[in-house]
Amino acid sequence: MLVLKEAEQTNKREAESYVNELFQTVVNRNPHEYEFHQAVKEVFNSLIPVLANKPEYIKHAILERIVEPDRMISFRIPWQDDTGRIRVNRGFRVQFNNAIGPYKGGLRFHPSVNASIVKFLGFEQIFKNALTGQSIGGGKGGSDFDPKGKSDFEIMRFCQSFMTELCKHIGPNTDVPAGDIGVGAREIGYLFGQYKKLSGAYEAGVLTGKGIGYGGSLARTEATGYGTVYFVDQMLKSAGYTFHGSTVVVSGSGNVSIYAMEKAIQLGAKVIACSDSSGYLYDEQGINLATIKRLKEVENRRCSDYTLEHPGAVYAEGCSGIWSIPCDIALPCATQNEMDKEAAECLLRNGVRAVGEGANMPCTLEAIDVFLDNQVLFAPAKAANAGGVSVSALEMAQNSARQAWTMEEVDARLQVIMGKIYEESIRASELYGRPGNLVVGANIAGFIKVADAMIAQGI
Ligand code: NDP
Repeated sequence: MLVLKEAEQTNKREAESYVNELFQTVVNRNPHEYEFHQAVKEVFNSLIPVLANKPEYIKHAILERIVEPDRMISFRIPWQDDTGRIRVNRGFRVQFNNAIGPYKGGLRFHPSVNASIVKFLGFEQIFKNALTGQSIGGGKGGSDFDPKGKSDFEIMRFCQSFMTELCKHIGPNTDVPAGDIGVGAREIGYLFGQYKKLSGAYEAGVLTGKGIGYGGSLARTEATGYGTVYFVDQMLKSAGYTFHGSTVVVSGSGNVSIYAMEKAIQLGAKVIACSDSSGYLYDEQGINLATIKRLKEVENRRCSDYTLEHPGAVYAEGCSGIWSIPCDIALPCATQNEMDKEAAECLLRNGVRAVGEGANMPCTLEAIDVFLDNQVLFAPAKAANAGGVSVSALEMAQNSARQAWTMEEVDARLQVIMGKIYEESIRASELYGRPGNLVVGANIAGFIKVADAMIAQGI
């Protein structure tokens, strides 16, 4: 028994030093890509118990291979603004890993988009997509184009130019992009129109997040936000809590945030705060979702305008202050690294019970440690926000079968998928000695599926 324990310790130490050395190589090979380093570090640290147990993953150099994208495409996007001026942006598509299916992952249009952002998102997408149980690989893309303040025609011209290059690299069985920050139904429509024109074929399955009238899936708009709440609900129930009667703070007021708020309210919670990139709103009575939806989805206005219609609400400039509002459940749904250690400590002092990541990598590694070290229930993005890509894969299935399922059917499937992701992540956390740690559980469960497929397919 003692000998066995010693052997286990040795394997763990070896796995640790292997991972540390490899992480350093990743940093050296990808200088200044801090978000990418952060995403890799989180996954690598989670995998130590697996590597200690299954040295074949080291022998087959799975980690060395999985951190290197299959390919990274960077391209020029020239377009003309409404004044006739020619503008140039940079576009990206990273095709990270297709061991279990065609590359799949969204497109982000935001001035902050660069190689590091696209690679961190694409890397995480590998494991998230594997967790869904559907055959989709990992990819991501976007541009540093800022859609804010642009006219419809400018957005259309930009999307057409973007697709003129991107179309050479995608296809229903190759790589299937979708939306993300700054890319919603309008942008997907323009991108699809241009793809159709260039390819000369109606390939509905080349993009997801399409309009309902031309191959989109019901419940895709709601899927990421609803899925996050379904996942957090499971996590709460396992500890004897529920959304009912809880106070909830949700950052952002975009696609993920709005539908996370909607589902939390449907489950009986009171959502007391949300935000945009300018500032945050606090409404003690509970945020009026109809007002937020109209302001954001229809009128393209700011959160601050909410107080014009609801004078009892308070608006404050700046984003991070939202985490100083006492709540039972916090759902960061805006952007990466929006919650740091100080914000996490503040939530903890105010008695937060659970945190669920609706956005990708919204919590820094230090913030996550604060939650895990203090028994705050924590739902990591790869698992909690996988509902969006899950319904995207259901959209692909409907496109292939030339069918259109009902809202109820898609929502029921989404709930089943989120339940399975939760169970698999918990099971992996128990199997590898970190019971209840969903960060470790989700990373391991996703990794094993991809790693085994890579081994089966050879080098
Ligand atoms: P949207 O563009 O619809 O919304 C983003 C929201 O976040 C906006 O309200 C935006 O405000 C706000 N925001 C941006 N930066 C900040 C900041 N620094 N502080 C506070 N708020 C900020 O994007 P999505 O809702 O689609 O995406 C949000 C997150 O969810 C991203 O991390 C994305 O990768 C992730 N995600 C999205 C999926 C999807 O299906 N859409 C699927 C899985 C993950 P403003 O309006 O001022 O810009």
